[in-house]
Amino acid sequence: MTLLAAEAQVHLADAERHVAHLCEHFEEHDFLVEAAPGRARIAFDIGTGSLEIDRDRLTLRAEADDTTRLAAIKFMLAQHLQELPGAAEARLIWTGDGCADTTLPSLREVRVRRIEDLTPHLRRITFGGQDLARYDAPDMHIHLLIPPEGQPPVWPVPGANGIPVWPEGPSAPAMRTYTVRRVDAAAGEIAVDFVLHDAPGPGAAFAARARFGDVVGLLGPGGRGVAQADWYLLAGDETALPAIARILERLSPEATGVAVIEVGEVADELDLAHPEGIALHWLHRTGAPAGSTLRLAEAVKAVPIPQDRSVFAWAGTEFETFKALRAHWRKTCGLPRDRHLAVAYWRRGHSEDADA
Ligand SMILES: Cc1cc2nc3c(=O)[nH]c(=O)nc-3n(C[C@H](O)[C@H](O)[C@H](O)COP(=O)(O)OP(=O)(O)OC[C@H]3O[C@@H](n4cnc5c(N)ncnc54)[C@H](O)[C@@H]3O)c2cc1C
Repeated sequence: MTLLAAEAQVHLADAERHVAHLCEHFEEHDFLVEAAPGRARIAFDIGTGSLEIDRDRLTLRAEADDTTRLAAIKFMLAQHLQELPGAAEARLIWTGDGCADTTLPSLREVRVRRIEDLTPHLRRITFGGQDLARYDAPDMHIHLLIPPEGQPPVWPVPGANGIPVWPEGPSAPAMRTYTVRRVDAAAGEIAVDFVLHDAPGPGAAFAARARFGDVVGLLGPGGRGVAQADWYLLAGDETALPAIARILERLSPEATGVAVIEVGEVADELDLAHPEGIALHWLHRTGAPAGSTLRLAEAVKAVPIPQDRSVFAWAGTEFETFKALRAHWRKTCGLPRDRHLAVAYWRRGHSEDADA
């Protein structure tokens, strides 16, 4: 295996302090950090980052086995360094493998191939494109780059500092997060299930108007799913239906547990393939606007968590429900961090841009 590498040097007044902050940040994100005076090494799951101080000069080094991973490590090091007070203005230019590339290695351009309404409010769009094997991964989601209606696509490009340069102006794409529902790399296809919600932003509006041949960009994939367990608790509204469907169909047939899913009405339920030992409970909003109640949180809190089994609890929900469930699992149930994952999939009254 060939190891690819890139390096950048930056002059900083207080390099030791910045390195300490970076190490702290990456440790908080559960990466293994080996720190010694004047140097540090961060073991990412996709490669290695290292930091070395020589007086006021900090050398950053990224190593990985492919250009996409290398770019991701360069991005993580550069982005977090520039977020630190006093380092925002630091001039950082990477040299080495992949640094002359003019397109983002993880970007794929795909076109609408098929459109299928799964329920009145859930539309599956199957996109066709090349080189999609990277999306056939345990990672759960992608960022969809959606050109404004009627505009030709203009994509972000690599920045010399490792941070992509985003297009500006009327052609700039919107970025939205969606679950990879299905990938057939051999057929060059990736499917995404879109909720057709009220007050649609660029994501839902694209799904509503999509026609054969429309173009979007993909970035990713990212985001973990569930860890191995004997008993699972899964919770979500219709935005998490694609993720729950995907999790259920990949669990071992012996898996047990409960899935609680909130949808608008009976017609919004899906026939989900699931292990026999996982009970599905559907909740209906029956007229209440999505995200306007905590019924889902209350229903999930009422599910007793077995004490004598290995457990994993997962939720993808509106922000308020996410907050309630995360607090419940952490504080009331005492589930350790590696035994639960709650994610805010959207926030009522806020576009995804506003939360970025
Ligand atoms: C990891 C992850 C995976 C996701 N996977 C999927 C997926 O597979 N399918 C999917 O449809 N969504 C998914 N989502 C949720 C999706 O990203 C959000 O719903 C997103 O806001 C949709 O973008 P938009 O452009 O339509 O609306 P935005 O521009 O983001 O928001 C516009 C308005 O719509 C409201 N809004 C957003 N979503 C909803 C909703 N569901 N119901 C009612 N109002 C809403 C907002 O509060 C805002 O007022 C996922 C989110 C995450 C974080």
